Amino acid sequence: MYPLKFEPILKQTLWGGDKIIPFKHLNDTLANVGESWEVSAVEGSESIVANGADKGLTLPDMVRKYKEDLVGEANYARFGNKFPLLIKFIDAKLDLSIQVHPGDELAKKRHNSFGKNEMWYVIAADQGAKLISGFAEQITPKEYKERVYNGTFADVLQTCAIKPGDVFYVPAGRVHGIGAGAFVAERMVNQENCIQARPLMPLILQMCRTIFVRSTSRCRMNR
Ligand SMILES: [Zn+2]
Repeated sequence: MYPLKFEPILKQTLWGGDKIIPFKHLNDTLANVGESWEVSAVEGSESIVANGADKGLTLPDMVRKYKEDLVGEANYARFGNKFPLLIKFIDAKLDLSIQVHPGDELAKKRHNSFGKNEMWYVIAADQGAKLISGFAEQITPKEYKERVYNGTFADVLQTCAIKPGDVFYVPAGRVHGIGAGAFVAERMVNQENCIQARPLMPLILQMCRTIFVRSTSRCRMNR
């Protein structure tokens, strides 16, 4: 086994900025790159080894080949050939959606999967950049629903000014969001169960409103 490098996986997004390509020293002219998936076993976006004897193998190939030697005995016993993490760089030029992810219990019940904890490491931050983590004050489920419907939900969230080197742990169940100007490394459990409490587009908001209010009000909200 040797230090593995992976081929870049760049994702263009409506809200993407211009920090990722120079940060990774890539010779690429892609615009609005919001995400770079650094370590991924997500189907269709698997990391591919770029160096050494295993060049060309995907991350799932590597787990099947090296098993516990790659991920550790305890992780292999728990997750088998499913690589458990997803690591991304995220460069937000605009505010991202506000989300909450289910914990293990709810994820198992609804999606037959694991819950999703996240961690952010701030690589760079524009003037005034913020991250959202939890509520700034205690609110009731009734007030939560009202605020979502009348558009004042974000007023009661805890926004944190950020600087490079800051680290945030966002356990499943805690409402969170990435603000404009934040460039972060995100490490999360490898699955995509997500409930958006403030989707990006007003149109989506109209479509999703009923679903997410029902869903999120049953999630345990951590401050
Ligand atoms: Zn999230």
